[in-house]
Amino acid sequence: MPHNLWHLPALSYHYRMINQPLKSIVVFNNKTNSILRRHPWIFSGAIKTKEETIEEGDLVNILNDKGEYLGFGYFQNNNISIKILGFKDEKYSNDFWKSRINLAFQLRSQLGLINNPQTNAYRLIHGEGDGLPGLIIDVYKDVAILQCHSIGIHKKLTLICEALEEVYALNLNHIYDKSQDTIPSSKTAFSSNNFLKGGVDFVLIKENGIEFEINIRDSQKTGFFLDQRENRKLLQKYCFHKDVLNTFCYTGGFSLYALISDAKSVTSIDSSTKAIAQLENNIILNKLIGFQHLTLNQEAIHYLNHMEKNLYDVIILDPPAFAKNISKRHNAIQAYKRINISALSKIKNGGILFTFSCSQVVTEELFYHTIISAGIETGRNIKILHKLHQAPDHPTSLFHPEGSYLKGMVLEVN
Ligand code: SAH
Repeated sequence: MPHNLWHLPALSYHYRMINQPLKSIVVFNNKTNSILRRHPWIFSGAIKTKEETIEEGDLVNILNDKGEYLGFGYFQNNNISIKILGFKDEKYSNDFWKSRINLAFQLRSQLGLINNPQTNAYRLIHGEGDGLPGLIIDVYKDVAILQCHSIGIHKKLTLICEALEEVYALNLNHIYDKSQDTIPSSKTAFSSNNFLKGGVDFVLIKENGIEFEINIRDSQKTGFFLDQRENRKLLQKYCFHKDVLNTFCYTGGFSLYALISDAKSVTSIDSSTKAIAQLENNIILNKLIGFQHLTLNQEAIHYLNHMEKNLYDVIILDPPAFAKNISKRHNAIQAYKRINISALSKIKNGGILFTFSCSQVVTEELFYHTIISAGIETGRNIKILHKLHQAPDHPTSLFHPEGSYLKGMVLEVN
């Protein structure tokens, strides 16, 4: 074990069990198809028997009712009862965490994100896409921020941190567990936000050469929306001498890219006062003061509904997930439609709309249909220039399409 001392949370978990044999859960034979196709979720109805002593978050072996091994994962008292970590070609050992993190690191290396002088912030672990459902790790320069979305992953935090330390050698000075809001609410007693190594309030990162300050403790998600990196870069092509409106701007990701590519003016809107303050700070950091920038700390939907026509050449709509679950999907679709009708009907002739949805339950197809129906209502002539997705350091398993949560389009409007 590395000698760095982590400030480990005082948890009642048996962290240090060394390669203990796992307990078993048997699934009905007619429910094994999705597992054999490497889909990583097992729903409660698929479970035939479960050893009585299995507790929430325990690692378990998964068997069919002939006793054949199908993989391993962690158990949770939920509609999704097991999230699978390894399929039938893999057995669990404590080295598992290191080998998964190593694989993820190799991929980021291949994507050119390691030791890149222009970009030093990226997602290292993207849940199912990196074979670790329930775990997010974002790296901001020398700070790793972890978010566990399940008790099963949180129980293994020590092993995960050891693995991170080994993979990064001495290059990570701070590790922050920011799981308090992501662990299911009934179990928040298990988690508080904590530094597991080091301790720092802010870190300065670069993305495509642009500097952003990340507030580690007091920010949305892990601090920055890294999934939009490539889409922000694409925006630069369209901003030269244009009037740009960035709605739901957060700390100014798209706004800074627009300013740097010589937009005529940029208007940024967000309802979060903290996000707006951070955006203004980011403008100063990049010495963009004096450029035509207007910040509006207000409700973006209200602004879109009431703004005049023909003010903007480029509009970005990147709202928060309007639908957090299936029951909210219908209302979410209506909300996406309304904001897109406003933007599409009011943008200047020849204008460019960047429009996104990050709701996992709104599929790509559903989102595109929503935009089509918004477009029809405007009566304008609209072309698709690009179809956009999350950046590749947020990979999706081919067998888990639910992982493709971010979809977007770039439209030209006449
Ligand atoms: N495009 C951003 C990320 C957007 S995240 C980037 O590239 O970094 C969504 C943002 O919408 C958050 O900053 C949140 O504060 C803001 N938000 C949520 N509801 C809003 C509303 N009704 N009006 C304005 N902003 C809102």
